[in-house]
Amino acid sequence: MTNPCQSCGACCATFRVSFYCGELDDVPGGWVPGGLVDRVTPVMACMLGTERQPPRCVALRGEVGQSVSCAIYEFRPSPCRDFAPLAAAGSGDDACNEARRRHGLPPL
Ligand code: SF4
Ligand code: SF4
Repeated sequence: MTNPCQSCGACCATFRVSFYCGELDDVPGGWVPGGLVDRVTPVMACMLGTERQPPRCVALRGEVGQSVSCAIYEFRPSPCRDFAPLAAAGSGDDACNEARRRHGLPPL
């Protein structure tokens, strides 16, 4: 079975992706590339592009609803890791399906 996320990417172009600055690679133990984020507050960052309207993460490659990938997949922040954990296996949740709806895609 193919991973439906690889032909979707809607969540990466719908929500603001915010997370704790401790995940940034310029602090010990962090991993998210600091050059790809905006510092929202002294303790919070968000992925560049996700703070705009319409949002689209700077790390998203490809065309939403067609074929997509994350340029920093191994180093993506926790909200991306935690989002809709069963979607890759074909079962979306409310947030996943809301993102898909906004991009004209059917629910999982
Ligand atoms: S989690 Fe849902 S919205 Fe995000 S890429 Fe996968 S199917 Fe699309
Ligand atoms: S870091 Fe990757 S998984 Fe997270 S929003 Fe951006 S493109 Fe999507």
